[in-house]
Amino acid sequence: MVGFATELTPPFATLGYHGRMAVTDPAEIVIQADGLHKTYETGGVRTHALIDVSITVRKGEMVAIMGPSGCGKTTLLNALSGLDDIDSGTVRINGTELNRMGDDRKTEFRAKDMGFIFQTYNLLPVLTAAENVELPLIVSGTKPKIARERALEALDRVHLRDRAGSRPNQLSGGQRQRVTIARSIVNKPAIMWADEPTGALDSRTANEIMDVIQDLNKVAGQTVVMVTHDPKVAARCHRTIHMADGEIVKESSRDEMKAVVAAGGAAL
Ligand code: ADP
Ligand code: MG
Repeated sequence: MVGFATELTPPFATLGYHGRMAVTDPAEIVIQADGLHKTYETGGVRTHALIDVSITVRKGEMVAIMGPSGCGKTTLLNALSGLDDIDSGTVRINGTELNRMGDDRKTEFRAKDMGFIFQTYNLLPVLTAAENVELPLIVSGTKPKIARERALEALDRVHLRDRAGSRPNQLSGGQRQRVTIARSIVNKPAIMWADEPTGALDSRTANEIMDVIQDLNKVAGQTVVMVTHDPKVAARCHRTIHMADGEIVKESSRDEMKAVVAAGGAAL
């Protein structure tokens, strides 16, 4: 990334990036990605979706990833969480290198230690909220009674326990997204990945979802990495990483994102 270091103003130059960290306890680093490259090739067309991307995220951080459509945000999130392979570079989660894990171990690692929130709700329409939330536990062999208890606990944390018996089509968009969040936290994962979690919601509902995610981050100490188009959402994260054309081009603090919102929300 030519010129990247010079674009960072001093306090941020020490934050977040490998090799530019100030005094940080290595034990606190949850996600460490170095030199990620990813190229897609379809019909003879090559797309450089990730070009030398490096990121460090510490325990309990809530980090936003912003940038124009097609700049590589989803590719980055999927690379960091091990959902997709990368061409080169390394991703370490809690010190373990994802690229070196076999597929089975990676799947287990994801199921145990990671939660995923996507814009499309991916809820099964024939199941109730409680059944949707307990599904990952049932699949991984938890006894039904315990699975149900934990599902209700998770629904409680997103303030939806009273709708445990409702099916997705009986719930609003915001409520469905909260069920998705409950499902993603039912395993008490250390890291939560969210790809435009508020993208399909009106601003009031988006705010409500951000309250829930921020609460999980603050109260449960979950590390959150979130792709978003919305500066208001980014302004609720500790810091924002900006991407363009497959590269990280800039990083903003929460205060800087708040200033963007106050100035009318134009993207940086
Ligand atoms: P964003 O999430 O920022 O909108 P993506 O990470 O989805 O961007 O995509 C980055 C680039 O890679 C885009 O140009 C997109 O068209 C391309 N891309 C993403 N997934 C694929 C794929 N499976 N095959 C080919 N090209 C892809
Ligand atoms: Mg995307």
